[in-house]
Amino acid sequence: MIRSVSGARAGRTGGGFGHRGEGEFCALQALAGMEPRATILVVEDHGATRTFLADNLAADGYDVIKAEGLSEARHLLERAFPDLAIVDLGLEDGDGLDLLSEVRAADRIAGRVDPDLPLLVLSGRVSELDRLRGFDRGCDDYILKPFSYHELSARVRALLRRTRHRPPTGRVRVGSLELDPLSRQVWVRGQPVALSKKEYALLRALAGEPTRVFTREELLRGVWNFRAMGTTRTLDSHAFRLRQKLGQGGDRFVINVWGVGYRLVDGGLER
Ligand code: CA
Repeated sequence: MIRSVSGARAGRTGGGFGHRGEGEFCALQALAGMEPRATILVVEDHGATRTFLADNLAADGYDVIKAEGLSEARHLLERAFPDLAIVDLGLEDGDGLDLLSEVRAADRIAGRVDPDLPLLVLSGRVSELDRLRGFDRGCDDYILKPFSYHELSARVRALLRRTRHRPPTGRVRVGSLELDPLSRQVWVRGQPVALSKKEYALLRALAGEPTRVFTREELLRGVWNFRAMGTTRTLDSHAFRLRQKLGQGGDRFVINVWGVGYRLVDGGLER
């Protein structure tokens, strides 16, 4: 996969924060027939390694989301829908092997986690038995620490190449809205709707529980991976654009609940 210079630059602009022109970038990619940028979840408790991975993957043009441990990783898997996860095994709140098993056991239809998510273990557990255990629990590849970033990056590309054309399953339907989590396509009344990556991620999060009110904090953490609260303008502008795009046929989606956050639909679903 050849990353364009513009892709690499876009990846360096700050992890999704205040991405100006993101929509235009996605539209350009679509026009050029390019794949949208893949989102990679890095689960690593060692701060320097986490930062090193995130910086290099972002420079390679990926969207990167980071977790220090299992609980944060679970949260991001359910809310931010990564395309691949790099998983350390020795984590402060548990064993990365458990995360592998949980992903593989996920419910394809009702669940929010893709059981076929490509999983790459990056671990200091170097024995043959450890590696076999990793594959046993569902990893697709296993890289030993210390590692070469170039090799890791090549293995990430290979995994993404193999899994890019998976058959679409588990479509989500909410009233006249339909979305396909694997191909990331969205339709309203059968008409395709073009969304930017973050607009899509926001919609996917809201569609998980269409009538529940998600707080701004939840959405910022889940969709943008903001740890520190501060600005909600990014969320509000994406929600506004999402509402406009979904509402072109007169449908009313993405309801702002003043002072709290957002939900996808207001009360009962139409028809
Ligand atoms: Ca570790």
